[in-house]
Amino acid sequence: RRAASEVTAPARRVIGIETEYGITCASTAGSVPPLDADHAARELFAPVVARGRSSNVFTRAGARLYLDVGSHPEYATAECDRLEDLLAQDRAGEIRMARLAQQANDRLAEQGVPGRIHLLKNNLDAEGSGFGCHENYLVRRRGDFWNDARTLVSHLVTRQVLVGAGHVMDAPDGSGARYVFSQRADQMEDAVSSATTRSRPLINTRDEPHADAERYRRMHVIVGDSNIAQGSTLLKTGQMDLLLSYLEEGGSLADLRLAQPMRAIRETCHDLSGTVVLELADGRTITPLDLQEEHLARVSRHADGLDLTPLHRDVLDLWERGLTAVRHQRPRDVVTELDWAAKHQLLTRYAERAGTGLDDPRVARLALAYHDVSATDGLRGRLESAGLLRRWVSEADCEAATRIPPATTRAHLRGSAIGRAEDLRLDLSADWVNLKLDDGRTAPVALRDPFAVVDARVDALLETMDALAAARDGRVPAGV
Ligand code: ATP
Ligand code: MG
Ligand code: MG
Repeated sequence: RRAASEVTAPARRVIGIETEYGITCASTAGSVPPLDADHAARELFAPVVARGRSSNVFTRAGARLYLDVGSHPEYATAECDRLEDLLAQDRAGEIRMARLAQQANDRLAEQGVPGRIHLLKNNLDAEGSGFGCHENYLVRRRGDFWNDARTLVSHLVTRQVLVGAGHVMDAPDGSGARYVFSQRADQMEDAVSSATTRSRPLINTRDEPHADAERYRRMHVIVGDSNIAQGSTLLKTGQMDLLLSYLEEGGSLADLRLAQPMRAIRETCHDLSGTVVLELADGRTITPLDLQEEHLARVSRHADGLDLTPLHRDVLDLWERGLTAVRHQRPRDVVTELDWAAKHQLLTRYAERAGTGLDDPRVARLALAYHDVSATDGLRGRLESAGLLRRWVSEADCEAATRIPPATTRAHLRGSAIGRAEDLRLDLSADWVNLKLDDGRTAPVALRDPFAVVDARVDALLETMDALAAARDGRVPAGV
């Protein structure tokens, strides 16, 4: 440990998580489902479209709620630079989605439609198509970024032994169902690429920083399971934050490059012991557990010189305990913290009690309930309340994050403006950077610094909105 005077605060980093949700409509009358996924998604978004005249809206929490082509509703969190905010904002997305589903189900019931919509925070639909959960990390722009980013592939391939959401897979050799680390690993096709949908890379290279492009990049990680456990979300984002900090300060992972990452990601996924032998680019071999141990060792040495937040300390601690749990085949040691372990226990215990195998349809339904965002149909809230899943951020804070943006990034400015426009019933368009009042006169405001929390132009925008609403309502605005 170094002297206190040498300890520095780590550079702040903006992080955001995008989550696509699976949607199904189950029949409540034993017949065929009354709505297919597309119709269910449109029904879900009807109130969003009615209010915002679009299926792509930004919220007063600074987040983006949208329905793209296809039928996967998505919530992209506001920019966060504190891990507790990120956990709260990510969960806020689930809460918003759950509320939309509840409202849609109430409407269906009123209309006598015999169906119930379920929203699932997972990565595979009933037809076997995959969908994603993207992580976004702000990095400072410098020439050799892509060399560094490529060296993160080994981590992205092997981190699933800690932060995978767990999955019951039908063995391709017909040997039955078995439990594996990740739903997403088998969907990935490319290590690093500029396309997200066609070739399914682990890291997307599209240069779209949503910020001052001279200074910043946004690293867009496409591989990764949607997580339910706060511990898994904390670990996956905290690990990457610390690894990026290590690389930015001159660290290197170049000697740990895998020879065949796409083969390695599947082999790692399918081996719960964490000891499958992977080949490195330089011809040596290594196991997923040893690769992760080595990453942890380098990050821990680097972190010795950093004044870490309590949550970052938890990340290092959970990283280490998670690896030990796999090494000793004791998932119960992290069963309240990591999805793959929690779900493994839930499903195997059920199968044992019922005297069936993991391929039993009731086990499959239980696995879906683990990912169901509904407070009544889903298990997450009950598991957390019973202490079976650990909370780092309280449900009340997560609920507040549906309305209140993070206070320490530009999301605060965006959220304030959107909130004011909503309260005053004025039309304001927003994206990650821009705010524009649809009055045909006021100039748009571009928020190019993701860390800015005060901006005179936004103050002026709020005043303009007050004045416009006052004039519309026949009031004279105060102070004029
Ligand atoms: P797609 O859905 O096609 O992948 P996209 O990657 O541009 O599009 P959005 O769904 O709009 O993504 O979500 C962007 C995410 O990036 C949000 O979670 C947001 O908080 C985050 N973000 C925005 N600006 C930055 C930035 N400068 N650095 C890091 N993250 C950012
Ligand atoms: Mg997106
Ligand atoms: Mg994305």
